[in-house]
This record gives sequence, C-alpha cells and structure tokens, in this order.
Amino acid sequence: MARVYNFSAGPAVLPEEVLKEAAAEMLDYNGTGMSVMEMSHRSKAYDEIIKTAEKDLRELMNIPDNYKVLFLQGGASQQFAAVPMNLMKNKKAAYIVTGQWAKKAYQEAQMYGEAVAVASSADKTFSYIPDCSDLDIPEDADYVYICENNTIYGTKFKELPNTKGKTLVADVSSCFLSEPVDVTKYGIIYGGVQKNVGPAGMVIVIIREDLITEDVLPGTPTMLKYKTQADNDSLYNTPPCYNIYICGKVFKWLKKMGGLEAMKEHNEKKAAILYDFLDQSELFKGTVEKKDRSLMNVPFVTGNEELDAKFVKEAKAAGFENLKGHRSVGGMRASIYNAMPIEGVEKLVEFMKKFEAENK
Ligand SMILES: *Cc1c(COP(=O)(O)O)cnc(C)c1O
Repeated sequence: MARVYNFSAGPAVLPEEVLKEAAAEMLDYNGTGMSVMEMSHRSKAYDEIIKTAEKDLRELMNIPDNYKVLFLQGGASQQFAAVPMNLMKNKKAAYIVTGQWAKKAYQEAQMYGEAVAVASSADKTFSYIPDCSDLDIPEDADYVYICENNTIYGTKFKELPNTKGKTLVADVSSCFLSEPVDVTKYGIIYGGVQKNVGPAGMVIVIIREDLITEDVLPGTPTMLKYKTQADNDSLYNTPPCYNIYICGKVFKWLKKMGGLEAMKEHNEKKAAILYDFLDQSELFKGTVEKKDRSLMNVPFVTGNEELDAKFVKEAKAAGFENLKGHRSVGGMRASIYNAMPIEGVEKLVEFMKKFEAENK
C-alpha cells in the first residue's frame, strides 16, 4: 500500500494515525462488538464519543462556556441559509465578498433579507483581502459576515474586520483548527469539516448563546433552527455519528501534537517552504498578495496553461495528487492542511525545482 502526498482542497488529507486507529476499531469499537457506524446514537458508548469530542474541541479552541458547540449535517453550504434564517431579525446583514464561498453565502442571504456587500475583492479576481478597518456597515445590520480563509483563491484575513459592534459570523471551513483563535470575537464560527478536520457532510457551529432564540424567520425548518440543535445537544435527530467519531480522533491527535499554538508553528513552517520557493522561482509564481496569503491553500501558476497541465500530470505520476487549481481559476493549488507533513511540502518543492530546470 502506497499513500500519496494528497494536496486536495477537500475532502482532504487526514492524519494517518487517525485512519489507522479507525481501521483497527472498524469491526469492534472498544469491546462493544460493533462498529461506530452500527451503533445507536443514544447508546452509552456513543454518548461518550460525542461528549469527549466536544470536550476536546472546547479545550483546543478555548471555547467559553457561553458558546454552544453543534455538530450538524448539511456541510458548510447549509449554513449559508441557516445564518440569515436565524440571525436576520432586521432583515439586513453586511457581507464581505472575498471569493466564491463568500459570494455564495451573500447570494443565499439575499433570499431572506437585504444582504449588503460592504467590501469585495472581485475587482482583482479575489487575490487580496480588502481593508476592513472602516467599512460602511448599516446601522441596523444584524451581523457582519466573512469567509475567513478563501479556499479557492488562497487568501486569509490576518486581521478581523472592524464590525462596529455588530456580531461577526465567520466561515472558517478551510482554516479550522489551523491556528489559535479568540472565539469571543465572533458570534458564530462555523466550518465544514472535510478541509481540515474529518469526513465530508458535517459542519461544526460554535455559537454564542444569546444568538440562539425562537425568534427566527418564519418558515425556518425545525432542523435549521440553532435552538432545536442546541436544546438537543446536536441529537435532535440522528447526527453524523461516524464523522463526529473521526473528528473526535482528530481533536485527540491535535492535542497530542501540542494544540493549536504548535499547529500554527507547524503550518507556518510548512507554508514558508513553499512560498519562499515561489518567491524566488523564475517559472512558478504565487497568485495572491503576499500580506494576505493563506497558510492552508497555496495557488500558483507558470503563466502558461499548457505548462500548468504538464506540471499537474507529471506531479501526479510522481505521487503528488490533486494539485490542479480550482476549475474557476486554473493553474495549480497546493492545499497543505494540518495533516500534510512537512516532508510532503519539501518533496513537492524539490519536484518543482526539478520541473523548473527541465522546462526553462
Ligand atoms: C469547501 C467550502 C465550503 C463548502 O463546504 P460544503 O461542506 O461542501 O458545503 C464552504 N466554505 C468554504 C470556505 C469552503 O472551503
């Protein structure tokens, strides 16, 4: 069995240790004689799994007691609707549009009220983060929305926007648990887990308690009310049981690795290897403004589409998978999430050097 270096943007690489553990427990979880997949979500064994997962996540992110942690279905995209349905009391919200995922959320919110784009980087194909220190945020906006790390374009907010006192809502799908965050600065932090945490199909929502109310837009489905999910500790219906189990194992792995401070250091070191190479390469170039570079998603191009395609093909043959850029931007993208080892990036850079020498 040969594992490749998997640079997929998502679903993405998971820690090998976690996958091995899950494999070992596949037929008999902890003496229960059954797989976690076969287990009642109301059983004692499962109760322990979900409670431990939440406890470990709270510890990792230092989540204050006045925030709820919800493990939900529907992925990140479901939240594009759930957020306005639950939070748009004045039917108005400010959106900062820094890429496709932010744009999708902005467009979805327009179905429920007035979504105002208060800043955008569309003018330069989302290759930077706009200055958000003094935005014109409507007085009656219910919240300010960002996509904190732009998976497709490879930019990241290094500083949170000045929301002028409004609640901040952030989609952190592709930077989840990649570095420490100050949860108290947000009303809602949510992320689809398939980028940096676990298997696709689940979203984790971390929400301040005062935002969980019965006062939601008329017609909000029971399942999409944060109150339903919070009152039932994510067990209103059958939750994504196996995903929660795998995420729980990733939380344990992160703790063992030294927590989010250590992860940040690891991720910075890894990203620097690739960015430093790109900055001195005569063939490859990064595509975003340096100050806004993501630690997780690194897009780059040669400037020649044929050469890009040749690179992706030869890289694949050499064991570097999923380096093709998003279909909307072309070029290449290396996603280097938590579980990508440093040697994966070192070897990729070696390969890029060789390719550069051969294709000058
Ligand atoms: C991948 C991604 C999404 C979509 O996630 P789904 O779980 O497929 O809905 C949303 N936002 C960001 C930032 C993403 O990277």
